[in-house]
Amino acid sequence: IKIKGLNKVFRTEEVETAAINSISLEVEKGEFVAIMGPSGCGKSTLLNILGMLDSPTSGEYYLDGVEVGHMKESERTDTRKGKIGFVFQSFNLIEEMNVFENVELPLTYMKIKPSERKRRVEETLKRMSIDHRAGHFPTQLSGGQQQRVAIARAVVINPMLILADEPTGNLDSRNGKDVMELLLELNRQGTTIVMVTHSRHDASYAHRIINLFDGQVVTEVQSESLLR
Ligand code: ADP
Ligand code: ADP
Repeated sequence: IKIKGLNKVFRTEEVETAAINSISLEVEKGEFVAIMGPSGCGKSTLLNILGMLDSPTSGEYYLDGVEVGHMKESERTDTRKGKIGFVFQSFNLIEEMNVFENVELPLTYMKIKPSERKRRVEETLKRMSIDHRAGHFPTQLSGGQQQRVAIARAVVINPMLILADEPTGNLDSRNGKDVMELLLELNRQGTTIVMVTHSRHDASYAHRIINLFDGQVVTEVQSESLLR
């Protein structure tokens, strides 16, 4: 990830909010970065831009060497599909679909054929230790299990990048720790991770912590944690 002079301004009728104010930063392939900062400082906005869910007002965003910040919406959607996996605080699983179907969904969007989809979903559910719940629906699972399914859905596409927005925010500390251990393991296997968090403990799993304030990077510190 390489962003240069990135700005995001939200304009409503009366107010103008500079949510991202001239941010430049780089994230290396294989790095695990935590983004921290007070509520309203621009963390979600930055993550949405990195995830190609939203585009910047100005500035450049290179992902894997390609400028993706100013692509048309349709092109953006196509580009992010096989590259970026998302993990949210609220899990965002589809209630009407069982575990298998939830994890299969991104592969369906990528037009991968059914036999290959089945193989990859089963393999990923095993890796996330949730294969014994393949036929369950989200409401039949604990929070920790739901987040494991959500992580399975993010990794089933073999993404180069995982973006996580407060992944342990709705979990107790035990389940939160399991989720962080999973993310750490994925990172050790080579997946780049950018994670927004309010938790110092979770941030200490990262190589580097980027602190935002008022839409700007105020400090970048290397994590000295023994957790890694
Ligand atoms: P954080 O995730 O750090 O809490 P956000 O990125 O959600 O911060 O928001 C940064 C700033 O941008 C806030 O002042 C927020 O009110 C504003 N903002 C975010 N999204 C919108 C939007 N869709 N329309 C107008 N203002 C927004
Ligand atoms: P919060 O910042 O309150 O924790 P979420 O983690 O639920 O919010 O969502 C973060 C951002 O990702 C929001 O801007 C939301 O609109 C967007 N988002 C959530 N779910 C999806 C989805 N399934 N597909 C695309 N965008 C999503």
